[in-house]
Amino acid sequence: MDVVRKQIQVRGIVQGVGFRPFVYRLAQRFHLHGHVRNTGDGVLMEVEGAAQPVEEFLARMACERPPLAQVSETVVTELKATGETGFSVHATREEQPQFTLVSPDLATCSDCLREFTDSRDGRFAYPFINCTNCGPRYSIIRDLPYDRPATSMAVFRMCPRCQAEYEDPGSRRFHAEPNACAACGPSLTLEAPGGIRLTKNRRCARGGAASVVWRTNPGDQGTRWISTGMRCRERRCRTAAAPAQTATG
Ligand SMILES: [Zn+2]
Ligand SMILES: [Zn+2]
Repeated sequence: MDVVRKQIQVRGIVQGVGFRPFVYRLAQRFHLHGHVRNTGDGVLMEVEGAAQPVEEFLARMACERPPLAQVSETVVTELKATGETGFSVHATREEQPQFTLVSPDLATCSDCLREFTDSRDGRFAYPFINCTNCGPRYSIIRDLPYDRPATSMAVFRMCPRCQAEYEDPGSRRFHAEPNACAACGPSLTLEAPGGIRLTKNRRCARGGAASVVWRTNPGDQGTRWISTGMRCRERRCRTAAAPAQTATG
């Protein structure tokens, strides 16, 4: 069998748009070996396999790219086969960024909106929900190449569930750099004038994602917010309530 190896450098808006997971899945589909990584000026990959599937891979990459990717240039170089087995997404190599286009922040996609509004989902009402098809990009990037340690998300250590999604090639959060949930990501607090905390998404005592439930009492002067308890959204956790509090705003 004729084994070939090619290096493919792709430039354009190709970081933060799910390009590496896309390449990974494509390589799996054609049983190719090699690796892919972000570089200072785009995405660089090497693929190895029989000549025909490698050609198919290149053709598919040109026409099936992720919806948000914009490729400005693709450079293919012939290499000697190395016998590498498996296909991996490599950590970014330290190098000086030369030229790359940064994706803008992207509005919440329909899949994330569906999870956001589903009370049975682990990210129900989580304000910072995102995936490889949507979420913050430009506003969290501190340096290039675009990888989690080079973003303001670096300080948020992913919980086991988020980490598993991040590492699962079948998940649409595979290498989603801002991946987060209420248990491990940023939280949002709403305060009334005077610093009165109205609501905050937070964890329950057992570490599950929880939310404070508020209702207003319209009979009072001004708006009176009454906490009716904190409910944990983890399915098996029955932690029901924090002490009731009131706040006037
Ligand atoms: Zn999304
Ligand atoms: Zn999480």
